[in-house]
Amino acid sequence: MNRRRRVYEGKAKVLYEGPEPGTLIQHFKDDATAFNAKKHELIDGKGVLNNRISEVIFQRLNEIGVPTHFIKRINMREQLIREVEIIPLEVVVRNIAAGSIATRLGLEEGTMLPRSVIEFYYKDDKLNDPMVSEEHITAFGWAAPAEIEEIMSLALRINDFLIGLFLGIGIRLVDFKIEFGRIWENDTMRIVLADEISPDSCRLWDIESNEKLDKDRFRRDLGGLLEAYQEVAKRLGVLNESRPPKGAGPVLVASNGAGKAK
Ligand code: UDP
Repeated sequence: MNRRRRVYEGKAKVLYEGPEPGTLIQHFKDDATAFNAKKHELIDGKGVLNNRISEVIFQRLNEIGVPTHFIKRINMREQLIREVEIIPLEVVVRNIAAGSIATRLGLEEGTMLPRSVIEFYYKDDKLNDPMVSEEHITAFGWAAPAEIEEIMSLALRINDFLIGLFLGIGIRLVDFKIEFGRIWENDTMRIVLADEISPDSCRLWDIESNEKLDKDRFRRDLGGLLEAYQEVAKRLGVLNESRPPKGAGPVLVASNGAGKAK
């Protein structure tokens, strides 16, 4: 069916060779997995929603000067991205206690953390992505000290931006996971945001009802995953029915020929 060369296949995405050197195509699948893929289901339409949600978030991050791998969306399931050398870390940013930190530190889910907390996990499914410290990262050479600093500063900028973005659509950003990669431009190396940001990789709670609008619906067998992702997409304005009607913005009125639109 697909004759493009497959570069990599993960649990929820496939990477294909891109149209030009230094580019790749990121394809979003419908697979939902949890607990290191021990739980696995196909959820028809999830890939399409994540593609659109991640597109709008990466686009806006690009616009505020956070470097990302995102170039443009190609179709319902695919986006054109820059090829990066993935840093083998999952960077988790937390604002509210939930999931593994709640268990590990005995915190009640929903407790506000004293400040945003960044954690690092080593990306290795065979080891179950163990949590690691900066000491491990530098000792094993996964990233240099200056790279860790850059990653932390980008992670906090992304967190601030996403908190505001989601708050504006009635959603609390509890935590999220991001990944970074290296890009070389001539002799200089840049760290850029890679992978995706979607309800698969974030915890998103409705501000009013506290309803979960993320992958915990799947992890915890709550049902309604697709509806929850649709709700996030709708609030972000990426589903057709929520697009503002055409011509609803301010209209330029020409008077005496002055200020005429070109
Ligand atoms: N997360 C992720 N991929 C992973 C592990 C975690 O996207 O392999 C996200 C998860 O959706 C949540 C945040 O990272 O938004 C923190 O997850 P946590 O450490 O609490 O792990 P979990 O409870 O999901 O096992």
